[in-house]
Amino acid sequence: MSLLEPLRRRLGWKLFLSYMVIVIVGVAVLAGTAELHAPTVLNEHSRQMQQMLGERNPQLVADFYATFQRAVTEVLIVAASFAVLAAVLVSIFVTRRIVRPVQSMMETSQRIAAGEYHERVGPEGVPDDELGRLAEAFNRMAASLEQTEQRRMALIGDVAHELRTPLSSIKSVMEGLTDGVLPPEPETFQMVQTEVSRLQRLVHDLQELSRAEAGEIALERESVAVATLVEAAAERLAPQFQDKGVRLQVNVPDTLPPVQVDPNRITQVLLNLIGNALQYTPPDGEVSVEARGDDGMVAISVTDTGIGIPSEHLPHLFERFYRVDKSRSRLGGGSGIGLTIAKHLVDAHGGHIWAESAGRGEGSTFTVTLPTRAEEDESSL
Ligand code: ADP
Repeated sequence: MSLLEPLRRRLGWKLFLSYMVIVIVGVAVLAGTAELHAPTVLNEHSRQMQQMLGERNPQLVADFYATFQRAVTEVLIVAASFAVLAAVLVSIFVTRRIVRPVQSMMETSQRIAAGEYHERVGPEGVPDDELGRLAEAFNRMAASLEQTEQRRMALIGDVAHELRTPLSSIKSVMEGLTDGVLPPEPETFQMVQTEVSRLQRLVHDLQELSRAEAGEIALERESVAVATLVEAAAERLAPQFQDKGVRLQVNVPDTLPPVQVDPNRITQVLLNLIGNALQYTPPDGEVSVEARGDDGMVAISVTDTGIGIPSEHLPHLFERFYRVDKSRSRLGGGSGIGLTIAKHLVDAHGGHIWAESAGRGEGSTFTVTLPTRAEEDESSL
């Protein structure tokens, strides 16, 4: 059993054995054919020769046949030896070509499984054929695993960081209360309350984010007028605009076709964009919401006259926990997750979301496109 083990477990040995089977069958067929047909052919040939010579010598026929058999056996031995040698050489060559890259992928996958996510199958020794493409696919899979792992680690780090700030505020207030440094007044408790609310919001946002990233948010689509969506969001935020002294302008033409969306989810996106515009626009500024239709899509833009966004930050705004100005956003209670969730929701509807800004102090525009045709958003999901 143990002798057969390498044969069972090694592709190189299997290849060699398969070549040997072919050699053995070839030799057996040759020997069998010579054994079966040679006597008839030789007898006939020697009978004709003896007829021509006019004499009859049975010993001559027997010698002739024995010499022929010896020659055939010798030729078969030489041919079989060369065939076995060829089988050894070819199986070594093929093994190198096939087994090496496979072995290398196997070793790499074991290292990746052990947590070394940066490991890749090297380009050397990988042939330019199906195996090469398998190695490429393997490397792509390894790269995406590495990215997932990096995102997971970054998420853990980010969440820990986000939790640390409110928790240490609560801790220091509680210590102040215990030591008598802080008076037990409503303002002190309000500070704790604010931090607890921040933690609650963070946990809620994280839950939403994980559901959105897992594609678990079910969309209940219906045909909705764009004006209804925009006005619902604007109305909800109107008191905050008034409190801060920022004007809110809504300009949505009645002629726009309805969009095929989940109204609750798109209202959530609009609340995030209009809320951000309010948060990053100083008093006396203006936020305007406009919509226009184009080629099966409706684009809704939220433009503000606020602090603007430097161009190097624009590509990262929709990444988790990304904030342009960390302290300012955190003071406003922002977790840097709102736009990430908004992007997931808009993508799930088959739309797009992007940000534009001429730079710091120049205001910003966030635009969302949404499909107006039911078949279009169905195919995009
Ligand atoms: P947050 O909860 O921190 O606002 P978001 O994901 O909604 O998180 O936004 C991410 C970051 O994008 C913000 O921290 C802010 O730096 C920037 N940002 C978003 N909207 C605006 C805006 N209208 N003007 C300027 N900066 C903005």
